Amino acid sequence: MVSRTIPVDSFDLVLFGATGDLAARKILPSLYRRFQAGQMPGDARIIGAARSDLTDDDFRTSVRKAIDAFVSEAKKDKATIDAFVAQCCYIPIDAKGTGGWKELKKAVRDDVVKAFYFSVAPAIFGDLADRLRSNGIACDNSRLVVEKPFGTDLETARALNDSLAASFDETQIYRIDHFLGKETVQNLMAVRFANVLFEPLWNERYIDHVQITVAETVGVGGRGSYYDTSGAMRDMVQNHLMQLLCLTAMEPPNQFDPDRLRDEKLKVIRSLDPVEPGDVVRGQYKAGSEGPSYAEDSENPDSRTESFVALKVGISNWRWKHTPFYLRTGKRMARRHSEIVVQFKDTPHSIFDRDGTSKANALTIRLQPDEGIDLAVTIKEPGPGGMRLTTVPLDMTFADALGGEEEIPDAYERLIMDVIRGNQTLFMRGDEVEAAWAWTDPIIQGWEARGDKPNLYAQGSSGPEEALALLHRDHRRWRDLEG
Ligand code: NAP
Repeated sequence: MVSRTIPVDSFDLVLFGATGDLAARKILPSLYRRFQAGQMPGDARIIGAARSDLTDDDFRTSVRKAIDAFVSEAKKDKATIDAFVAQCCYIPIDAKGTGGWKELKKAVRDDVVKAFYFSVAPAIFGDLADRLRSNGIACDNSRLVVEKPFGTDLETARALNDSLAASFDETQIYRIDHFLGKETVQNLMAVRFANVLFEPLWNERYIDHVQITVAETVGVGGRGSYYDTSGAMRDMVQNHLMQLLCLTAMEPPNQFDPDRLRDEKLKVIRSLDPVEPGDVVRGQYKAGSEGPSYAEDSENPDSRTESFVALKVGISNWRWKHTPFYLRTGKRMARRHSEIVVQFKDTPHSIFDRDGTSKANALTIRLQPDEGIDLAVTIKEPGPGGMRLTTVPLDMTFADALGGEEEIPDAYERLIMDVIRGNQTLFMRGDEVEAAWAWTDPIIQGWEARGDKPNLYAQGSSGPEEALALLHRDHRRWRDLEG
């Protein structure tokens, strides 16, 4: 199967933070791959901006380096790279200064899509938004793309929303959560809403529970001091795991339209029960063969920040009242593995003599590695010897479904092109982000008020024992990460 590439209108994309890590690792390589796919018009331009005093040629050299380091060998082609970098230029600008804005105004065209990507610290979002407006560079149909973290609690998220709202309308703001750009995550919506099979069963009557896991093998490494001010709850649960939960739990919107979809996600967040202290487990990794302990990585021996968190979350609405959602995410875990498991209930009565090898159905949506979806179904074990049952996966690994010839596009490729198309469906709305913080804040404040310490866990494990107990006490088990 060959994927279709639909060209977008011409654009000027101004990339603030063009000399930073995210620009090099994700944004510029993603733009290159879209260019190579023929999606970027020949007169579209990428205008890099940051404080560093670079020339156009210096910037083009850094774009080449980023492509060399972060694009697969199969996609590197000298003529294409030459053509791509010819569409890149650079203007030195300090978000808080006065220099460079006149040059930027001259550089951006008014008759094409104008997008401004803030790949910079959130502390300067407001300065950039304000100067883009006051210098007459951005207009009513320009678009702003902002990166995470979008605040560290409700108060700071509100302040950020207000600082952007002072210059731009909500319809112009694209808050990135790159999980939403993943093929599988979008496929979760396709599976739910484009098939008659699942939706009738998608409720507390037939679903026993849902597990959402985002496990990483890396530690906090070089980001230690930043991470220590954040932790797994702020860094992962409030945004990425929350979005996965919303897409799994939401009602079908009556159209696949940005605001209708986001209205449904918002209703889910507002239906989340407060989390009791006994329903959440925090952890911190110990020193191990893979590297130093969290405390050493963060250079804070007394740190109480969690590198792991697991929670049992209830949703108070008709669809989910008695179906818990279990979320867990952590660093230095056994495997790099992210998935949503929708665990169905067992059949109400079995006509077969169960020999212990069959299991209740489970739909697994794998985000990484091997993006894909599989459905565990019970069948008869082949061959003579009676009616023995076995459980097998109906597996749809996307790489196989695409014939193994094409790389699955990076989430950033999809999301950046959606910005150019003016499609906000896969971006978080301001009220959604605030509602997510309003649910998260009391959990974090509870830890701080009680002085809770995270439980230590071994590197290469599934997290602290207490996280396993969170499910055991409900007679359930996490999917195995160590097997
Ligand atoms: P970074 O490597 O520190 O880069 C920051 C960029 O901002 C640099 O290009 C820097 O260039 C520019 N900058 C800093 N102060 C500026 C100012 N006053 N005016 C104009 N430009 C300024 O950070 P990053 O890792 O790329 O992250 C950028 C944003 O994305 C952050 O909000 C981060 O939280 C978020 N994010 C990053 C990742 C990631 O994997 N890196 C993932 C998700 C989200 P100059 O020093 O030349 O000005």
